[in-house]
Amino acid sequence: MATIFSRIVAGEIPCYKVAENDEFFAFLDINPVAMGHTLVIPKQEIDYIFDIDDALLGRMMAFAKRVAKAQEAVIPCKRVGVAVMGLEVPHAHIHLIPIQKESDMYFGGKKLTLTQEEFADVAAKIAAAF
Ligand code: AMP
Repeated sequence: MATIFSRIVAGEIPCYKVAENDEFFAFLDINPVAMGHTLVIPKQEIDYIFDIDDALLGRMMAFAKRVAKAQEAVIPCKRVGVAVMGLEVPHAHIHLIPIQKESDMYFGGKKLTLTQEEFADVAAKIAAAF
């Protein structure tokens, strides 16, 4: 059965898309820890990020870097933090999180509540800068 993220790529489940190429897809995390919190995934279904072969993983990080540069261009932040956990969704994904301070990377607390318009607006801004 396809992962929820493959179903997003296929357009079966809606998302706030940020960027795409033939191998990778980026979209906003639906439970953001910070404004602009984005997930980067390979289109190929691979559960664990460190099972991805070296060449594809390298290209995935280069794609994530481009997304991060776009986030930096449109979201006030000191850095874009990077996290990988994968405990919830068995489809490799890199969290890219615009941060001002270390605690902005905290996943255990209350998530941001954004309206559909706010999600759509930030996704469109990052997409335009990509
Ligand atoms: P983890 O696998 O621990 O990295 O957590 C999965 C992440 O995917 C969480 O931050 C969720 O909020 C996010 N997520 C799960 N389903 C969706 C979805 N349909 N659209 C966007 N983000 C999602």
